[in-house]
Amino acid sequence: SRRPVIAGNWKMNKNVEETEDLIKSLIPLVDGAEAEVVFAPPFIDLPKAVELTKGTNIGIGAQNMFYEEKGAYTGEVSGEMLKDLGVKYVIIGHSERRQYFAETDEGVNKKVIKALKLGLTPIMCCGETLEEREAGDAKSKVVGQIRKDLADVDDVTKVIIAYEPIWAIGTGKTASKEQADEVCGWIRETITDMFGEAAAEATRIQYGGSVKPNNVKELMGMENIDGALVGGASLTADFAKIVKY
Ligand code: 13P
Repeated sequence: SRRPVIAGNWKMNKNVEETEDLIKSLIPLVDGAEAEVVFAPPFIDLPKAVELTKGTNIGIGAQNMFYEEKGAYTGEVSGEMLKDLGVKYVIIGHSERRQYFAETDEGVNKKVIKALKLGLTPIMCCGETLEEREAGDAKSKVVGQIRKDLADVDDVTKVIIAYEPIWAIGTGKTASKEQADEVCGWIRETITDMFGEAAAEATRIQYGGSVKPNNVKELMGMENIDGALVGGASLTADFAKIVKY
């Protein structure tokens, strides 16, 4: 059976002081959670976040990384640097990075492979736009992303996949639990096809997109949903209500 994993993607929110306040308030509230717990703050907050969460049940994640170790890549941060800091997870290929920063499936694939090589747990995001869903193309979009983004991965069970329909992100329009589960099922079928049934059964798939304390439980009750990737609702102490759904 798959252990649920609830992750907070803070996106571009919170300075170091605000990070300290939020993490200190959440530590006692998420203590003892059944789910694995991940906070992913901005890069500049990572040292403080790692320091504050030492010895707790919270793992810290970054929101991106580059696949090269070092060199002339202005503005980038390597997986080695994250690893050295004590970061354990890294979100890769979020739709906002694909949309605003021109990330491609090829680059996402390189990052996933590199993260795994370093022992970081990638949280690899996929999902369709509203236009794609309305055109009946949700399945081909998501299956295509999984095939490209996870190509040549050695151990897919070490990857957390996040299904985030772009139309549900930050819009307050959650996918229905049936819609979300259906796509997570397509993802699991694709993993079966690529890596075999045992690997697919062991791989965790999160849903993300307007997850709130009042809808997390029904989503988590679905067969193919093993966790949540939470944006807006991870920015206050109320996130504990999602973690302890
Ligand atoms: P919201 O929870 O704010 O909709 O964001 C979802 C998301 O993109 C998490 O990565």
